[in-house]
Amino acid sequence: MEFEAVIGLEVHAQLSTRSKLFCSCNTTFGSSPNMQVCPICTGQPGVLPVINKKAVEYAITLALALGCKINLQSVMARKHYFYPDLPKNYQISQYDQPLAEEGEVEIEINGKKKKIGLTRIHLEEDAGKLIHDEKKPFSYVDFNRTGVPLLEIVSKPEISSPEEAVAYLKTLRSIVRYLGICDGNMEEGSLRCDANVSVRPKGSKDFGTKVELKNMNSFKHVEKALAYEIKRQVGLLLEGKEIIQETRLYDEATQTTHPMRGKEEAHDYCYFPDPDLIEVIIDRSLLEELRAKIPELPLRRKERFEREYSLSSYEAGILTEEKTLADFFEDTMKLYSNPKAISNFLLTEVLRYLNRDRIDISQSKLVPHHLAELLDLVERDVISITLAKQQIFPEVYERGVSPKSVIEEKGLIQESSEELLRKACEEVLAENPGEVARYKEGKKGLLGFFVGQVMKKTQGKANPKVVNKILIELLEK
Ligand code: ADP
Ligand code: ZN
Ligand code: MG
Repeated sequence: MEFEAVIGLEVHAQLSTRSKLFCSCNTTFGSSPNMQVCPICTGQPGVLPVINKKAVEYAITLALALGCKINLQSVMARKHYFYPDLPKNYQISQYDQPLAEEGEVEIEINGKKKKIGLTRIHLEEDAGKLIHDEKKPFSYVDFNRTGVPLLEIVSKPEISSPEEAVAYLKTLRSIVRYLGICDGNMEEGSLRCDANVSVRPKGSKDFGTKVELKNMNSFKHVEKALAYEIKRQVGLLLEGKEIIQETRLYDEATQTTHPMRGKEEAHDYCYFPDPDLIEVIIDRSLLEELRAKIPELPLRRKERFEREYSLSSYEAGILTEEKTLADFFEDTMKLYSNPKAISNFLLTEVLRYLNRDRIDISQSKLVPHHLAELLDLVERDVISITLAKQQIFPEVYERGVSPKSVIEEKGLIQESSEELLRKACEEVLAENPGEVARYKEGKKGLLGFFVGQVMKKTQGKANPKVVNKILIELLEK
């Protein structure tokens, strides 16, 4: 019997507003515990919450970008549960009248597009953070995160594999970053995901019993947790056992999941409209104002890059994953119109440095006109690509100086004089008699080795085209 997986994701995106959802406390990540708290977010009696307009605008922006139906009137509700990270003993969230419903996230996987439907997007406040120290008979609680605005984005159970789940998450992450409403940092918890998964006989229309998975803080973990869970559930069904509806935690160390608690039902939370807050009423003009500010989204931009610049799906995909990189590419295009050359340099050299420094291109010292200048110098044979990569780009990147100034400083103009290069070529051949003999016996691939040696001898200054020509001349003599 063959089985298929059914997956639905509940994603929490922390909105990058400066203050919390119902008070003016700061939301900066990583400050000392309990330094960003006030009577409102710690749930003192007699305080009144006031909703953060920016958070509502961010929520609407995402909902519009994903084609959701926006409810012009929505309600903040109290969701009750007793847990030490929740000082009020209820969380302010949305229940039967959420901010937005329906909509979809379009993903692309192995060149195939698929639309994953959404159930709803709602606004809620985050809880605090518990810190457990195994050596102590108590735990710590940090309320800095309490009251930070979150968007909960609930997908329909339309995801069919762990790979699709990861593609969905990556797409959503890219979109919230394009919109500038969430930094998408999974390690810092700005983007969190609970995964619901069930299995059923292939082709069946009915849903199986679902299990909720928590505690995955990277794409890899989501993928591994789902793969493990699907295998576990199929195993149980094959043994004729039942699947229990429950919440399970992913354990990174063993790459398995284990039970955390039985699943609670909505009525356990005793939802009711928060009497301290009025309804969220949205003006149509605000919708239009926000819609006008939505940039071209990653998948559309990727398709345009493939079309307009004749880039491969792979190249266009990486270039458009981050808005800053895509903008950088297009700004460079305005100055130097060779998309392939710009793309190659960005995807190899530039990304290597950015990944090393764990920064975004907008946080680096590199500017479009320096990259355009560098590539133009290579094209006009003033410098070789090797020289550009090894000696000029590192300086341009680290110091934010122009390629021309580095060339001047280091005296790096490409050497094309045949007379000078012939001498270097002759020396290299004389120093490597063994390789020369093997070349003459037919190992023509050694040409690259000789060229490399000449480049080394000339500190990368030699014009490789001229070197090639001279070497062939000398070797074929
Ligand atoms: P609950 O009431 O348990 O919170 P919801 O109906 O609100 O359940 O759905 C929560 C998430 O679980 C959604 O993302 C939804 O797509 C997903 N889901 C619902 N039923 C299933 C199922 N049988 N298998 C997998 N995922 C499911
Ligand atoms: Zn506060
Ligand atoms: Mg639910």
